[in-house]
Amino acid sequence: MVTLFDNTLKRLVEAAEHLDLDPGFLEKLKKALEMTQARLSIRMDDGSIKSFLAFRCRYDDSLGPTKGGIRFHQQVNADEVMALALMMTSKCAVMDLPFGGAKGGVMVDPHSLSNMEHERLSRAFIRAFAHVIGPDRDIPAPDVGTNEKTMAWMMDEYSTIVGKRTPAVITGKPVALGGSLGRDDATARGAYNIMQNKAHTLGLERGARVAIQGFGNAGMHMAQLLDAAGYKIVAVSDSKGAVHAPAGFDIGELLAAKRCGGSVTSMAGSAGASEIPGDALVAVECEVLALAALENMVHKGNAGSIKARLIVELANGPVTPEADEILKAMNVVILPDILANAGGVTVSYFEWVQNREGDRWTLDQVHARLKTAMEREADAVWAYVRDKNIPLRTAAYVLALSRIAAAMEALGTEKF
Ligand code: GLU
Repeated sequence: MVTLFDNTLKRLVEAAEHLDLDPGFLEKLKKALEMTQARLSIRMDDGSIKSFLAFRCRYDDSLGPTKGGIRFHQQVNADEVMALALMMTSKCAVMDLPFGGAKGGVMVDPHSLSNMEHERLSRAFIRAFAHVIGPDRDIPAPDVGTNEKTMAWMMDEYSTIVGKRTPAVITGKPVALGGSLGRDDATARGAYNIMQNKAHTLGLERGARVAIQGFGNAGMHMAQLLDAAGYKIVAVSDSKGAVHAPAGFDIGELLAAKRCGGSVTSMAGSAGASEIPGDALVAVECEVLALAALENMVHKGNAGSIKARLIVELANGPVTPEADEILKAMNVVILPDILANAGGVTVSYFEWVQNREGDRWTLDQVHARLKTAMEREADAVWAYVRDKNIPLRTAAYVLALSRIAAAMEALGTEKF
């Protein structure tokens, strides 16, 4: 069976063909630096004890301390965590951040936990992995199923263990505890910055129709930013289903429906919106398809049905390599995950810098620096597209790999 890790590595190996690399560097990147597994046992509200499997993978630290989120999801497994950690390694390198890549996860359905159970599990995670993480070693952040509350509990638990307040050990914290302004919508804003900056090249016009798969943090903020910029959001989905409004949604109503009804599907029946099957969302008539759910959502079975001309990968790994080939033949442009959703980790880096300096930046400062960073690295990726005549995804991996290889080269051969 081909796994997510196989697919992720494949993209790195393909990119290496476009660089004159020491083969030893790629050989090194085929294996994770460190993989830790733990059993987290917590007492549930009803007095029983439950155990959950947890992982933290530090994939590569050539560019600096490792960085990446912690996912709470029932499908978390070692292969997925390792694949996502490899993606983080490439993502941090694409953005020229002084970080390597990591990822963590707990195999749990976060919706099945009460608030206090979520807190106990978050603290148990840190007790199990305190020796792995650290502000100069490995810096976690939120991912699917975790949020700023999770990060607050984790930071507090770590600070208790080491005996000193250590905000820089984790990013995506609440602003009250040293979180950065602008971290909440950073993932969507980074993609939005690139779309606006490259609108002409991407053939995007005002009023372009957008379908959004996934209505969590990234999808919701993307809908708001694009709506405010004059795009038309025509379809959205979440884990419970999808809704389609060919004339466009009123975003305020859509957000209220999600908040009150728990799902975007509670929008069905009002304001020209009708419910469609969740898996029909990718095939809706639109110009832009934003994928903000989970990995492998566009595969060889549904890629051919896509009508959009541009796919924006807000999730990690939402398009399989087989679907990449089909979409390439259809001339669909893909703004790849390791660039498109890198705004999140970029503002995480800003948060880490602020914590280490004991400083606080204004929202304007964060927005301006994020925009500069996204536009700078998008230009660098596009330069490889032009020079080497390769798709954006390959170009992003070429840029990442060239930076990781430069760091490995500079580190010398003693560690090999
Ligand atoms: N989980 C996010 C990602 O996949 C953010 C990681 C971070 O901020 O470190 O990019």
